[in-house]
Amino acid sequence: MVADCTTLWNDCLDIIKTNVEEENFNTWFRPIVPLRVEGDVLTIQVPSQFFYEWLEDNYVPTLKKAITKVLGNNARLEYSVIVDSGNTQSPPVMVNYPNGMGGKRNGSPGAESDYSPFTFKALNPQTVNSRLNPYYSFDNFVEGDCNRLARSAGLAVAKKPGVTSFNPLMLYGGVGVGKTHLVQAIGNEIRNNMPNKIVLYVDQNDFTTQFLNALQNHKLQDFQNFYLQVDLLILDDVQFLAGREKTQEMFFHIFNQLHQSGKQIIMTSDCPPRDLKGFQERLLSRFKWGLTADLQEPDFETKLAIIHRKMQADGIEIPTDVAEYLAYSVDTNLRDMEGVLNSLIFHATLLKKNIDLDLAKEVLKNIIKEIQSDVSVDYIQKTVAEYFKVDLDSMKGKVKKREIVIPRQVAMYFCKRYTQLTLALIGENFGGRDHSTVIHALESVEDMMKTDANFKSSVEELGKKLKMRMN
Ligand code: ADP
Ligand code: MG
Repeated sequence: MVADCTTLWNDCLDIIKTNVEEENFNTWFRPIVPLRVEGDVLTIQVPSQFFYEWLEDNYVPTLKKAITKVLGNNARLEYSVIVDSGNTQSPPVMVNYPNGMGGKRNGSPGAESDYSPFTFKALNPQTVNSRLNPYYSFDNFVEGDCNRLARSAGLAVAKKPGVTSFNPLMLYGGVGVGKTHLVQAIGNEIRNNMPNKIVLYVDQNDFTTQFLNALQNHKLQDFQNFYLQVDLLILDDVQFLAGREKTQEMFFHIFNQLHQSGKQIIMTSDCPPRDLKGFQERLLSRFKWGLTADLQEPDFETKLAIIHRKMQADGIEIPTDVAEYLAYSVDTNLRDMEGVLNSLIFHATLLKKNIDLDLAKEVLKNIIKEIQSDVSVDYIQKTVAEYFKVDLDSMKGKVKKREIVIPRQVAMYFCKRYTQLTLALIGENFGGRDHSTVIHALESVEDMMKTDANFKSSVEELGKKLKMRMN
Protein backbone atom coordinates (compact mmCIF):
# COMPACT_ATOMS: atom_id res chain seq x y z
CA MET A 1 0.00 0.00 0.00
CA VAL A 2 1.38 3.37 -1.00
CA ALA A 3 1.55 5.87 1.85
CA ASP A 4 -0.68 8.89 1.35
CA CYS A 5 0.85 12.27 0.75
CA THR A 6 -0.04 13.70 4.17
CA THR A 7 1.81 10.92 5.94
CA LEU A 8 4.80 11.32 3.68
CA TRP A 9 4.84 15.05 4.16
CA ASN A 10 4.58 14.66 7.92
CA ASP A 11 7.63 12.42 7.78
CA CYS A 12 9.42 15.14 5.83
CA LEU A 13 8.34 17.73 8.40
CA ASP A 14 9.78 15.64 11.21
CA ILE A 15 13.14 15.73 9.49
CA ILE A 16 12.90 19.40 8.57
CA LYS A 17 12.01 20.28 12.15
CA THR A 18 15.34 19.05 13.37
CA ASN A 19 17.13 21.27 10.86
CA VAL A 20 15.48 24.66 11.20
CA GLU A 21 14.65 26.92 14.07
CA GLU A 22 11.19 26.63 15.48
CA GLU A 23 10.17 30.16 14.48
CA ASN A 24 11.23 29.61 10.91
CA PHE A 25 9.67 26.18 10.87
CA ASN A 26 6.33 27.68 11.90
CA THR A 27 6.56 30.47 9.35
CA TRP A 28 7.79 28.58 6.34
CA PHE A 29 6.79 24.94 6.71
CA ARG A 30 3.59 24.79 8.73
CA PRO A 31 1.58 26.69 6.07
CA ILE A 32 2.54 24.15 3.39
CA VAL A 33 -0.22 21.75 2.34
CA PRO A 34 0.74 18.44 0.72
CA LEU A 35 -1.45 17.90 -2.35
CA ARG A 36 -0.52 14.58 -3.89
CA VAL A 37 2.21 12.09 -4.48
CA GLU A 38 2.63 10.45 -7.88
CA GLY A 39 5.53 8.07 -8.18
CA ASP A 40 8.58 10.01 -7.10
CA VAL A 41 6.90 13.37 -7.29
CA LEU A 42 5.46 15.08 -4.24
CA THR A 43 3.36 18.17 -4.90
CA ILE A 44 3.00 20.74 -2.17
CA GLN A 45 0.90 23.84 -2.11
CA VAL A 46 2.39 27.12 -0.91
CA PRO A 47 0.44 30.30 -0.15
CA SER A 48 2.09 32.63 -2.63
CA GLN A 49 4.73 33.14 -5.27
CA PHE A 50 6.81 34.95 -2.74
CA PHE A 51 6.58 32.06 -0.35
CA TYR A 52 7.77 29.72 -3.07
CA GLU A 53 10.70 31.96 -3.88
CA TRP A 54 11.58 32.22 -0.27
CA LEU A 55 11.69 28.46 0.14
CA GLU A 56 13.78 28.23 -2.98
CA ASP A 57 16.19 30.86 -1.83
CA ASN A 58 16.60 29.57 1.66
CA TYR A 59 15.57 26.00 2.16
CA VAL A 60 16.52 23.96 -0.86
CA PRO A 61 19.13 21.84 0.95
CA THR A 62 16.75 21.28 3.85
CA LEU A 63 13.87 20.22 1.61
CA LYS A 64 16.09 18.08 -0.53
CA LYS A 65 17.48 16.22 2.43
CA ALA A 66 14.06 15.48 3.84
CA ILE A 67 12.47 14.45 0.57
CA THR A 68 15.20 12.13 -0.57
CA LYS A 69 15.16 10.46 2.83
CA VAL A 70 11.44 9.87 2.73
CA LEU A 71 10.82 9.27 -0.99
CA GLY A 72 14.16 7.96 -2.15
CA ASN A 73 17.01 9.31 -4.24
CA ASN A 74 14.91 10.06 -7.30
CA ALA A 75 12.39 12.12 -5.42
CA ARG A 76 11.21 15.36 -6.92
CA LEU A 77 9.19 18.20 -5.55
CA GLU A 78 6.59 20.25 -7.35
CA TYR A 79 5.01 23.39 -6.08
CA SER A 80 1.52 24.58 -6.55
CA VAL A 81 1.44 28.28 -5.88
CA ILE A 82 -1.75 29.98 -4.82
CA VAL A 83 -2.11 33.24 -6.69
CA ASP A 84 -2.36 35.99 -4.17
CA SER A 85 -5.35 37.85 -5.53
CA GLY A 86 -7.84 35.03 -5.64
CA ASN A 87 -7.97 31.40 -4.78
CA THR A 88 -7.29 30.11 -8.24
CA GLN A 89 -4.19 28.06 -8.44
CA SER A 90 -1.55 28.80 -10.96
CA PRO A 91 -0.14 25.90 -12.95
CA PRO A 92 2.30 24.05 -10.75
CA VAL A 93 5.80 25.43 -10.81
CA MET A 94 8.17 22.60 -11.63
CA VAL A 95 11.17 22.20 -9.45
CA ASN A 96 13.35 19.15 -9.74
CA TYR A 97 15.52 17.43 -7.22
CA PRO A 98 18.18 16.21 -7.24
CA ASN A 99 19.64 17.43 -10.48
CA GLY A 100 22.46 19.53 -9.20
CA MET A 101 20.38 22.64 -9.84
CA GLY A 102 18.91 22.71 -6.40
CA GLY A 103 15.70 23.80 -8.05
CA LYS A 104 16.86 27.37 -8.41
CA ARG A 105 14.71 29.31 -10.80
CA ASN A 106 17.56 30.69 -12.81
CA GLY A 107 20.08 28.26 -11.47
CA SER A 108 23.11 27.16 -13.35
CA PRO A 109 24.68 23.79 -12.72
CA GLY A 110 26.35 23.84 -9.37
CA ALA A 111 24.40 26.87 -8.25
CA GLU A 112 23.58 25.01 -5.10
CA SER A 113 26.91 25.99 -3.66
CA ASP A 114 25.48 29.54 -3.39
CA TYR A 115 23.61 28.38 -0.36
CA SER A 116 25.85 29.07 2.50
CA PRO A 117 24.43 27.65 5.69
CA PHE A 118 22.87 30.49 7.59
CA THR A 119 25.02 31.79 10.36
CA PHE A 120 23.24 33.57 13.13
CA LYS A 121 24.82 36.93 13.83
CA ALA A 122 23.50 38.27 17.11
CA LEU A 123 23.19 42.04 17.09
CA ASN A 124 24.79 44.01 19.86
CA PRO A 125 22.46 46.71 21.18
CA GLN A 126 25.43 48.93 21.99
CA THR A 127 26.93 48.88 18.55
CA VAL A 128 23.97 48.46 16.25
CA ASN A 129 23.31 51.52 14.13
CA SER A 130 19.84 52.65 15.08
CA ARG A 131 19.79 55.31 12.37
CA LEU A 132 18.34 57.76 14.83
CA ASN A 133 19.09 61.45 14.79
CA PRO A 134 19.91 62.34 18.42
CA TYR A 135 18.55 65.85 17.87
CA TYR A 136 14.97 64.63 17.95
CA SER A 137 13.70 64.37 21.51
CA PHE A 138 10.54 64.77 23.52
CA ASP A 139 12.12 67.81 25.16
CA ASN A 140 12.23 69.74 21.93
CA PHE A 141 8.93 68.43 20.63
CA VAL A 142 6.38 71.11 21.42
CA GLU A 143 3.05 69.84 22.65
CA GLY A 144 -0.13 71.37 21.28
CA ASP A 145 -3.74 70.46 20.61
CA CYS A 146 -2.61 69.35 17.19
CA ASN A 147 -0.40 66.54 18.48
CA ARG A 148 -1.45 65.80 22.05
CA LEU A 149 -2.82 62.30 21.54
CA ALA A 150 0.04 61.18 19.33
CA ARG A 151 2.60 62.60 21.74
CA SER A 152 1.15 60.97 24.83
CA ALA A 153 0.77 57.63 23.04
CA GLY A 154 4.39 58.02 21.98
CA LEU A 155 5.46 58.69 25.56
CA ALA A 156 3.57 55.62 26.79
CA VAL A 157 5.27 53.47 24.18
CA ALA A 158 8.65 54.97 25.03
CA LYS A 159 8.16 54.01 28.69
CA LYS A 160 6.96 50.47 27.99
CA PRO A 161 7.77 49.35 24.47
CA GLY A 162 5.81 46.29 23.38
CA VAL A 163 3.85 46.21 26.62
CA THR A 164 1.04 48.69 26.04
CA SER A 165 -1.84 47.95 23.71
CA PHE A 166 -0.43 50.61 21.38
CA ASN A 167 1.22 48.02 19.21
CA PRO A 168 1.61 48.88 16.44
CA LEU A 169 1.56 52.59 17.03
CA MET A 170 0.51 54.17 13.78
CA LEU A 171 0.98 57.93 13.47
CA TYR A 172 -0.34 59.76 10.48
CA GLY A 173 -0.57 63.31 9.21
CA GLY A 174 0.44 65.65 6.39
CA VAL A 175 3.87 66.95 5.46
CA GLY A 176 5.91 68.53 8.22
CA VAL A 177 3.51 67.94 11.10
CA GLY A 178 6.24 66.28 13.16
CA LYS A 179 5.79 62.54 12.49
CA THR A 180 9.47 61.83 11.96
CA HIS A 181 10.43 64.01 14.90
CA LEU A 182 8.04 62.20 17.22
CA VAL A 183 8.89 58.63 16.23
CA GLN A 184 12.60 59.39 16.45
CA ALA A 185 12.06 60.94 19.87
CA ILE A 186 10.47 57.65 20.98
CA GLY A 187 13.44 55.74 19.59
CA ASN A 188 15.98 57.99 21.30
CA GLU A 189 14.13 57.80 24.60
CA ILE A 190 14.15 53.99 24.55
CA ARG A 191 17.76 53.84 23.49
CA ASN A 192 18.79 56.16 26.30
CA ASN A 193 16.75 54.50 29.03
CA MET A 194 16.96 50.87 28.00
CA PRO A 195 20.41 50.31 26.57
CA ASN A 196 19.79 46.60 26.09
CA LYS A 197 16.98 47.14 23.64
CA ILE A 198 17.75 47.09 19.97
CA VAL A 199 16.13 50.07 18.32
CA LEU A 200 15.95 50.48 14.59
CA TYR A 201 14.62 53.41 12.58
CA VAL A 202 14.16 52.85 8.88
CA ASP A 203 12.34 54.88 6.34
CA GLN A 204 10.53 52.92 3.69
CA ASN A 205 13.33 53.65 1.26
CA ASP A 206 15.97 51.96 3.45
CA PHE A 207 13.69 49.02 3.98
CA THR A 208 12.86 48.56 0.31
CA THR A 209 16.46 48.92 -0.82
CA GLN A 210 17.78 46.48 1.77
CA PHE A 211 15.07 44.04 0.89
CA LEU A 212 15.74 44.18 -2.85
CA ASN A 213 19.45 43.74 -2.24
CA ALA A 214 18.79 40.74 -0.04
CA LEU A 215 16.48 39.29 -2.64
CA GLN A 216 19.05 39.66 -5.41
CA ASN A 217 21.88 38.26 -3.34
CA HIS A 218 19.91 35.39 -1.83
CA LYS A 219 20.31 36.89 1.60
CA LEU A 220 16.65 37.01 2.53
CA GLN A 221 17.18 34.81 5.53
CA ASP A 222 19.85 37.15 6.87
CA PHE A 223 17.63 40.10 6.17
CA GLN A 224 14.74 38.59 8.04
CA ASN A 225 16.85 37.42 10.94
CA PHE A 226 18.33 40.86 11.30
CA TYR A 227 14.92 42.45 11.58
CA LEU A 228 13.63 39.78 13.94
CA GLN A 229 16.22 40.70 16.53
CA VAL A 230 14.95 44.23 16.82
CA ASP A 231 13.03 45.25 19.96
CA LEU A 232 11.64 48.47 18.53
CA LEU A 233 11.10 48.78 14.81
CA ILE A 234 10.21 52.20 13.44
CA LEU A 235 9.10 52.30 9.84
CA ASP A 236 8.66 55.86 8.60
CA ASP A 237 6.42 56.83 5.68
CA VAL A 238 4.91 53.42 5.16
CA GLN A 239 2.62 54.79 2.42
CA PHE A 240 5.47 54.41 -0.04
CA LEU A 241 5.23 50.63 0.20
CA ALA A 242 2.04 50.95 -1.87
CA GLY A 243 2.05 48.52 -4.77
CA ARG A 244 5.30 46.87 -3.65
CA GLU A 245 3.88 43.41 -3.19
CA LYS A 246 7.01 41.55 -2.24
CA THR A 247 8.28 44.18 0.12
CA GLN A 248 4.88 44.20 1.76
CA GLU A 249 4.90 40.46 2.08
CA MET A 250 8.30 40.57 3.72
CA PHE A 251 7.16 43.29 6.05
CA PHE A 252 4.05 41.28 6.83
CA HIS A 253 6.14 38.34 8.05
CA ILE A 254 8.47 40.52 10.06
CA PHE A 255 5.52 42.38 11.50
CA ASN A 256 3.79 39.17 12.57
CA GLN A 257 6.79 37.65 14.19
CA LEU A 258 7.83 40.80 16.01
CA HIS A 259 4.30 41.39 17.17
CA GLN A 260 3.90 37.82 18.37
CA SER A 261 7.04 38.05 20.42
CA GLY A 262 5.98 41.28 22.07
CA LYS A 263 8.29 43.60 20.17
CA GLN A 264 7.16 47.15 19.51
CA ILE A 265 6.35 48.40 16.04
CA ILE A 266 5.85 52.06 15.16
CA MET A 267 4.84 53.33 11.76
CA THR A 268 4.03 56.64 10.17
CA SER A 269 1.94 57.39 7.15
CA ASP A 270 0.62 60.43 5.35
CA CYS A 271 -2.99 59.26 5.72
CA PRO A 272 -5.05 56.99 7.97
CA PRO A 273 -4.68 53.25 7.26
CA ARG A 274 -8.18 53.08 5.78
CA ASP A 275 -7.13 55.48 3.02
CA LEU A 276 -3.89 53.72 2.12
CA LYS A 277 -4.08 52.48 -1.46
CA GLY A 278 -2.12 49.60 -2.97
CA PHE A 279 -1.81 47.61 0.25
CA GLN A 280 -2.74 44.03 0.94
CA GLU A 281 -5.85 43.91 3.06
CA ARG A 282 -4.25 41.65 5.66
CA LEU A 283 -1.46 44.16 6.15
CA LEU A 284 -3.89 47.06 6.50
CA SER A 285 -5.89 45.17 9.07
CA ARG A 286 -2.70 44.60 11.09
CA PHE A 287 -1.99 48.33 10.98
CA LYS A 288 -5.21 48.85 12.89
CA TRP A 289 -4.47 46.38 15.69
CA GLY A 290 -2.88 48.90 17.99
CA LEU A 291 -3.41 52.61 18.18
CA THR A 292 -3.81 54.98 15.29
CA ALA A 293 -3.27 58.63 16.14
CA ASP A 294 -3.11 61.66 13.92
CA LEU A 295 -1.01 64.78 13.97
CA GLN A 296 -2.72 67.88 12.71
CA GLU A 297 -1.34 71.04 11.22
CA PRO A 298 -0.04 73.07 14.15
CA ASP A 299 -2.20 75.91 15.34
CA PHE A 300 -0.90 79.45 15.84
CA GLU A 301 0.16 79.00 19.48
CA THR A 302 2.00 75.76 18.78
CA LYS A 303 3.81 77.34 15.85
CA LEU A 304 4.77 80.25 18.06
CA ALA A 305 6.13 77.90 20.72
CA ILE A 306 8.05 75.92 18.09
CA ILE A 307 9.62 79.12 16.77
CA HIS A 308 10.71 80.21 20.24
CA ARG A 309 12.02 76.77 21.14
CA LYS A 310 14.07 76.53 17.98
CA MET A 311 15.54 80.00 18.28
CA GLN A 312 16.35 79.52 21.96
CA ALA A 313 18.15 76.28 21.17
CA ASP A 314 20.40 78.34 18.92
CA GLY A 315 20.80 81.01 21.58
CA ILE A 316 18.91 83.66 19.67
CA GLU A 317 16.27 86.01 20.99
CA ILE A 318 13.46 86.56 18.56
CA PRO A 319 11.22 89.59 19.18
CA THR A 320 7.60 88.67 19.82
CA ASP A 321 6.26 90.60 16.84
CA VAL A 322 8.61 88.78 14.50
CA ALA A 323 7.69 85.38 15.93
CA GLU A 324 3.99 86.20 15.59
CA TYR A 325 4.44 87.45 12.06
CA LEU A 326 6.14 84.17 11.10
CA ALA A 327 3.58 82.01 12.90
CA TYR A 328 0.89 83.79 10.91
CA SER A 329 2.62 83.94 7.60
CA VAL A 330 4.22 80.55 7.17
CA ASP A 331 1.05 78.60 6.63
CA THR A 332 2.43 75.94 4.32
CA ASN A 333 4.20 73.55 6.66
CA LEU A 334 6.74 73.27 9.43
CA ARG A 335 9.54 72.28 7.10
CA ASP A 336 9.22 75.61 5.36
CA MET A 337 9.19 77.21 8.79
CA GLU A 338 12.43 75.39 9.55
CA GLY A 339 13.92 76.88 6.37
CA VAL A 340 12.80 80.38 7.26
CA LEU A 341 14.17 80.10 10.80
CA ASN A 342 17.50 78.70 9.61
CA SER A 343 17.82 81.55 7.21
CA LEU A 344 17.04 84.04 9.98
CA ILE A 345 19.65 82.40 12.20
CA PHE A 346 22.13 82.65 9.37
CA HIS A 347 21.46 86.36 8.92
CA ALA A 348 21.63 87.02 12.64
CA THR A 349 24.77 85.05 13.46
CA LEU A 350 26.91 85.32 10.36
CA LEU A 351 25.79 88.62 8.91
CA LYS A 352 25.24 90.08 12.38
CA LYS A 353 21.92 91.57 11.39
CA ASN A 354 19.21 92.41 13.89
CA ILE A 355 16.24 90.13 13.72
CA ASP A 356 13.34 92.46 13.12
CA LEU A 357 10.18 92.50 11.04
CA ASP A 358 11.92 93.84 7.94
CA LEU A 359 14.51 91.09 7.97
CA ALA A 360 11.79 88.48 8.58
CA LYS A 361 9.80 89.78 5.61
CA GLU A 362 12.83 89.74 3.36
CA VAL A 363 13.76 86.20 4.34
CA LEU A 364 10.20 85.04 3.98
CA LYS A 365 9.90 86.52 0.51
CA ASN A 366 12.98 84.67 -0.70
CA ILE A 367 12.01 81.36 0.79
CA ILE A 368 8.40 81.49 -0.20
CA LYS A 369 9.32 82.37 -3.76
CA GLU A 370 11.12 79.06 -4.02
CA ILE A 371 8.09 77.08 -3.01
CA GLN A 372 5.74 79.08 -5.19
CA SER A 373 4.02 77.25 -8.00
CA ASP A 374 4.17 78.17 -11.66
CA VAL A 375 1.34 80.63 -11.67
CA SER A 376 2.56 83.94 -10.41
CA VAL A 377 0.58 86.57 -8.58
CA ASP A 378 1.24 88.93 -11.50
CA TYR A 379 -0.30 86.54 -13.96
CA ILE A 380 -3.37 85.97 -11.79
CA GLN A 381 -3.86 89.71 -11.31
CA LYS A 382 -3.50 90.43 -15.01
CA THR A 383 -5.84 87.65 -16.09
CA VAL A 384 -8.51 88.59 -13.56
CA ALA A 385 -8.33 92.29 -14.43
CA GLU A 386 -8.67 91.52 -18.13
CA TYR A 387 -11.56 89.19 -17.55
CA PHE A 388 -13.55 91.74 -15.54
CA LYS A 389 -12.34 94.58 -17.79
CA VAL A 390 -10.98 96.68 -14.94
CA ASP A 391 -7.79 98.66 -14.66
CA LEU A 392 -4.97 96.49 -13.30
CA ASP A 393 -3.40 99.17 -11.10
CA SER A 394 -6.72 100.13 -9.57
CA MET A 395 -7.41 96.50 -8.83
CA LYS A 396 -4.07 96.15 -7.08
CA GLY A 397 -4.50 99.48 -5.31
CA LYS A 398 -6.79 101.06 -2.77
CA VAL A 399 -9.94 101.89 -4.80
CA LYS A 400 -13.06 100.92 -2.82
CA LYS A 401 -15.66 100.88 -5.64
CA ARG A 402 -17.62 97.66 -5.78
CA GLU A 403 -16.80 96.95 -9.44
CA ILE A 404 -13.12 97.03 -8.50
CA VAL A 405 -13.41 95.37 -5.10
CA ILE A 406 -14.99 92.20 -6.44
CA PRO A 407 -12.31 91.46 -9.06
CA ARG A 408 -9.68 92.21 -6.41
CA GLN A 409 -11.27 89.68 -4.08
CA VAL A 410 -11.45 87.12 -6.86
CA ALA A 411 -7.79 87.67 -7.64
CA MET A 412 -6.91 87.17 -3.98
CA TYR A 413 -9.00 84.02 -3.97
CA PHE A 414 -7.00 82.56 -6.85
CA CYS A 415 -3.71 83.63 -5.29
CA LYS A 416 -4.63 81.59 -2.25
CA ARG A 417 -5.70 78.62 -4.35
CA TYR A 418 -2.99 78.55 -6.95
CA THR A 419 0.10 79.88 -5.25
CA GLN A 420 1.78 78.87 -2.03
CA LEU A 421 1.85 82.43 -0.81
CA THR A 422 0.87 83.09 2.76
CA LEU A 423 -2.16 85.22 3.46
CA ALA A 424 0.12 88.02 4.59
CA LEU A 425 2.13 87.98 1.40
CA ILE A 426 -0.98 87.89 -0.75
CA GLY A 427 -2.12 91.00 1.12
CA GLU A 428 1.17 92.69 0.38
CA ASN A 429 0.69 92.11 -3.31
CA PHE A 430 -2.60 94.00 -3.17
CA GLY A 431 -1.51 97.41 -1.91
CA GLY A 432 -0.09 96.26 1.42
CA ARG A 433 -3.28 94.86 2.91
CA ASP A 434 -3.07 92.62 5.95
CA HIS A 435 -3.94 88.95 6.18
CA SER A 436 -7.38 89.54 7.71
CA THR A 437 -8.44 91.49 4.59
CA VAL A 438 -7.42 88.51 2.51
CA ILE A 439 -9.40 86.12 4.72
CA HIS A 440 -12.41 88.41 4.32
CA ALA A 441 -11.95 88.38 0.54
CA LEU A 442 -11.82 84.59 0.42
CA GLU A 443 -14.98 84.33 2.48
CA SER A 444 -16.84 86.88 0.33
CA VAL A 445 -15.95 85.05 -2.87
CA GLU A 446 -17.08 81.74 -1.45
CA ASP A 447 -20.34 83.26 -0.18
CA MET A 448 -21.08 84.91 -3.52
CA MET A 449 -20.41 81.69 -5.35
CA LYS A 450 -23.00 79.99 -3.21
CA THR A 451 -25.68 82.61 -3.84
CA ASP A 452 -24.97 83.87 -7.37
CA ALA A 453 -24.84 81.25 -10.13
CA ASN A 454 -23.54 83.72 -12.75
CA PHE A 455 -20.74 84.81 -10.50
CA LYS A 456 -19.94 81.19 -9.78
CA SER A 457 -19.62 80.28 -13.43
CA SER A 458 -17.41 83.32 -14.07
CA VAL A 459 -15.08 82.25 -11.30
CA GLU A 460 -15.01 78.71 -12.60
CA GLU A 461 -14.22 79.88 -16.09
CA LEU A 462 -11.41 82.03 -14.78
CA GLY A 463 -10.15 79.09 -12.76
CA LYS A 464 -9.94 76.99 -15.91
CA LYS A 465 -8.02 79.72 -17.71
CA LEU A 466 -5.48 79.95 -14.93
CA LYS A 467 -5.17 76.21 -14.67
CA MET A 468 -4.41 75.88 -18.37
CA ARG A 469 -1.35 77.98 -17.76
CA MET A 470 -0.31 75.67 -14.93
CA ASN A 471 -0.39 72.48 -16.98
P1 ADP B 1 6.89 64.96 9.04
O1 ADP B 1 7.75 63.75 9.29
O2 ADP B 1 5.53 64.84 9.65
O3 ADP B 1 6.83 65.37 7.62
P2 ADP B 1 8.96 66.29 10.56
O4 ADP B 1 8.97 65.46 11.79
O5 ADP B 1 10.05 66.09 9.60
O6 ADP B 1 7.56 66.18 9.83
O7 ADP B 1 8.89 67.83 11.02
C1 ADP B 1 9.31 68.90 10.21
C2 ADP B 1 10.10 69.89 11.04
O8 ADP B 1 9.27 70.50 12.01
C3 ADP B 1 11.22 69.23 11.82
O9 ADP B 1 12.31 70.08 11.83
C4 ADP B 1 10.66 69.07 13.22
O10 ADP B 1 11.69 69.09 14.20
C5 ADP B 1 9.76 70.27 13.33
N1 ADP B 1 8.59 69.99 14.19
C6 ADP B 1 7.43 69.41 13.82
N2 ADP B 1 6.59 69.31 14.86
C7 ADP B 1 7.24 69.85 15.90
C8 ADP B 1 6.89 70.05 17.28
N3 ADP B 1 5.68 69.70 17.76
N4 ADP B 1 7.81 70.63 18.07
C9 ADP B 1 9.00 71.01 17.59
N5 ADP B 1 9.39 70.86 16.32
C10 ADP B 1 8.53 70.28 15.48
MG1 MG C 1 8.74 62.48 7.96
